[in-house]
Amino acid sequence: MSDAWLSRPDLLRTEGFIAGRWEESDTRYDVLNPATGACLARVTQHGAEAATRAVDAASAALAAWSATTASERAAILRRWHELVLESAEDLARLMTAEQGKPLAEARGEVAYAASFLLWFAEEARRVYGSVIPGNAPTRRLTVIRQPVGVVAAITPWNFPAAMITRKVAPALAVGCTVVLKPSELTPLSALALAHLGAEAGVPPGVFNVVSGEAPAIGEVLTGDPRVRKFSFTGSTAVGKMLAAKCMATVKRVSLELGGNAPFIVFDDADIDAAVSGAIASKFRNSGQTCVCANRFLVQDGIYDRFAAALARKVGMLNAGDGLAGASDQGPLINAAAVAKVERHCADAVERGARILARGQVSGPPEGHFARATLLVDVAPDALLVREETFGPLAGLIRFDHEEEAIRLANDTPAGLAAYLFTADHSRATRVSEALEYGMVGLNTGLISTEVAPFGGIKESGFGREGSQFGIDDYVSIKLVVAEIAPA
Ligand code: ADP
Repeated sequence: MSDAWLSRPDLLRTEGFIAGRWEESDTRYDVLNPATGACLARVTQHGAEAATRAVDAASAALAAWSATTASERAAILRRWHELVLESAEDLARLMTAEQGKPLAEARGEVAYAASFLLWFAEEARRVYGSVIPGNAPTRRLTVIRQPVGVVAAITPWNFPAAMITRKVAPALAVGCTVVLKPSELTPLSALALAHLGAEAGVPPGVFNVVSGEAPAIGEVLTGDPRVRKFSFTGSTAVGKMLAAKCMATVKRVSLELGGNAPFIVFDDADIDAAVSGAIASKFRNSGQTCVCANRFLVQDGIYDRFAAALARKVGMLNAGDGLAGASDQGPLINAAAVAKVERHCADAVERGARILARGQVSGPPEGHFARATLLVDVAPDALLVREETFGPLAGLIRFDHEEEAIRLANDTPAGLAAYLFTADHSRATRVSEALEYGMVGLNTGLISTEVAPFGGIKESGFGREGSQFGIDDYVSIKLVVAEIAPA
């Protein structure tokens, strides 16, 4: 594809970004458009050697960067935010091309990604410590919060820009330096962000990007003792494996792993709100978000009406090439993702589920499209109940009473997001408190914002991103105990 489709063609970068320089390597790999199968760019295939040089650069830059004032760092983050917004349309087009989401969703993600830069520019100036009343007359106890050091971040392909800024912005805000490995499937958004960061004044070595051989780069980022903090968003299996490696050098770790979100609809729910929430939660990004509703638990008395209303909406969903025109959904990221949706659907049908509605596909045959699908009468032991489908497949399970809904909802090792729809205030409070999840959407299917803490419990991980709490993962607490000589 020619780069004339961007108003700033220089945003399409294909090299790694190390120590403020764009770096080639001997080998390159193809970044593909999942809607068409076309090769968008041939990107540098970096490995262990480049990753080590990126850690060298981040280590070398750390002392000077952490010595800048919070106001100086905030000014650079604010400028970066402005530059992202100025290039929002190009960034959205790059994102749709490499990830597939419809342009409207990509524009939304670019704004969301930018919001973390501004939020943490603001938070940078409020990294307060505290003074503790002394435990003896001659004692003075002071607590300061210092940057944790060099940060390594590994991010997924489903949100190619926002998953980056919500790690990098707090890290830079407090004075850390970063080496990022974006998903090899969606490096173009990451490289464009790095380009704009440098333009905004992020000094060389403070933010480095290496893309290519994931396991080799991962070995360096989890093994190098100079990396003091490891932040990962991705699958539970990979996150567990990488976190275990980090323990050899006792790194600080935060993990944002897979979910298995229950979406509970009680008899007294506002049905229109529940259906809109279901569409937003299940079908946004074609079902490829870690907070996507994965299991619909619907109470007996509203089950048939909810199913019929949701079926009307699902039947109207159309999947197509996000750059070619308006579509509700894009393709899935690759053929394996489509195969997983088909496997989950077939398994549920084998166990007695019925297909109530299916959407359309208008994209090219080379694209990895999956039809939006609604299943009813799904067995509680179906694959789609136990595993994250990560695709546009909604399955309804019937329940009778509140305790049963809570039991089914919590019956999973995951604990990221949960949703419930009810008009009863007491029930809303009871159930929100009983759900073993890091985030609960009450009468809404959309919960993400930069001002609120995002993150999970149980096997969905730990650490929080965004909000005032998003700073905590990037600072260490230091105690200074001073002995004061009497006069
Ligand atoms: P998903 O199923 O969403 O693709 P992954 O966990 O495979 O989730 O990918 C999330 C991120 O983890 C990506 O950046 C990917 O390249 C990276 N990754 C996958 N396997 C490894 C590995 N062995 N070492 C380091 N990074 C990895």
